Amino acid sequence: MKTPERQTKIIATIGPATESDQMLETLISEGVDVMRLNMAHATHDWIRDISKRIRKIGQKLNREPAILMDVKGPEIRTGYLPSAVHLSRGDLIDLVFSAQPHPPKNGEVWQIEVNYDKLHDHLSPGNNVLLDNGLIPLLVVETSPEKVRCRVLQDAELKSRRHVNLPGIETDLPSITEKDRQDTLVGIECEHDFFALSFTRDADAIDLFKSFLKDHNSPAHVIAKIEDQQGVSNLEEIVAAADGLMIARGDLGIECPFEELPIIQRKSVGICLAKGKPVIVATHLLESMIESPVPTRAEISDVANAINEEADCVMLSGETTTGLYPVECVRMLKRISSRIEKELPPVLSESLRLFRPKAKMLRSAAFLALRMGNTAVLVFTRSGDLAAKLGALRPNGAPLFAFTDIPGLHRRLRLIWGIEPFLMDFSEDPEMTIQDAIKRLKEEGRVETGDQIVTVTNVLADGKVVESIQLREVDA
Ligand code: PGA
Ligand code: MN
Repeated sequence: MKTPERQTKIIATIGPATESDQMLETLISEGVDVMRLNMAHATHDWIRDISKRIRKIGQKLNREPAILMDVKGPEIRTGYLPSAVHLSRGDLIDLVFSAQPHPPKNGEVWQIEVNYDKLHDHLSPGNNVLLDNGLIPLLVVETSPEKVRCRVLQDAELKSRRHVNLPGIETDLPSITEKDRQDTLVGIECEHDFFALSFTRDADAIDLFKSFLKDHNSPAHVIAKIEDQQGVSNLEEIVAAADGLMIARGDLGIECPFEELPIIQRKSVGICLAKGKPVIVATHLLESMIESPVPTRAEISDVANAINEEADCVMLSGETTTGLYPVECVRMLKRISSRIEKELPPVLSESLRLFRPKAKMLRSAAFLALRMGNTAVLVFTRSGDLAAKLGALRPNGAPLFAFTDIPGLHRRLRLIWGIEPFLMDFSEDPEMTIQDAIKRLKEEGRVETGDQIVTVTNVLADGKVVESIQLREVDA
């Protein structure tokens, strides 16, 4: 039996560099597990078209990736400017809710429009505001209901519609905007498998989003993106409420002090492992490969670190949306993960001890597979639960096969560390189902006669939940 090439999963964000049929086909063949569509940029027509094509190509290649829609969430931006404004260190500018851009006359200051009318309620002198993804730091010097007056701390060019970050400041922005609802409806229509909620600040945001999906009969899973200090403070409750977590290091690195990032990442991955929820490390993993065919040494170590921490997924953003080397990036992640995983100890990780849910059977199966060596674990699942828990146990090096008869679930399982999912009809007789699964694995060259497998079943008998594990040899 072949040991898996890699068990860490790969997410690629799709954009102009990767939206052609040919590129989608290459990415899927190279092993991209989840395709991310970012609603900060996409139109509804584009979403409908690309989703259809991803599905079609995935089916043709017999390797359907999951689709993840990343919804924008609450976001503050500056307004339209006809041309870039040059700001010098020491200048004063006013952030105002509505303003006509015009150059300041004598003694006046720049008026910069910001799309949040309560800005002045949440800021006070001494706070920092960051424009353009952290590139333009401002210091608040005065607030009034009409404006927030700030001093520019660094020379900079301000262009139209730039991001505004308020590090450490809690706002009353709604967790789901009207645009998010409209976008999500299109994602539901296209049967997207995951929705990632940007700037998740608490468990309520997740509950609200989940009830929206439920109201529209979507079985999709919700991934919480932690991007600010409030999200970090509420990490435990957010992970408990969500179906998975994305560590959005781009915004986190603006909203929190830089040096906190590795600590937040390690802690978040640990919490997810303990709770058996998939976790994604996102942003800047191979940033330099947007323009270069090889990564920096630091990037290689960063990817390795995520794998050593045993994250489920590593994610590509700009690298695959507008970068010059999207396919090389996917190959690079595969190359690094397959090598680094070989160095992981072949034992159940610490999660074995931390993992509290009743999963004795699974634990025994995973333990058996590791002790015997060269042994695959097969689970049969209708809720995905068994597969999620099996992956969370991190049996390094053991092939993990999950069978389901629920269309869609087979795609959602692609997010989980180590799990190779298969969609298959279940038979009335559990033994038949197991035999069908083994046949399928043989056909696909995943196991051979004489190989050892452990099966874990719990949803097979009619109406009755039977939980059992069996060690067996693959018959001729
Ligand atoms: P974004 O989120 O790409 O949607 O901004 C990721 C991040 O902030 O890291
Ligand atoms: Mn972000």
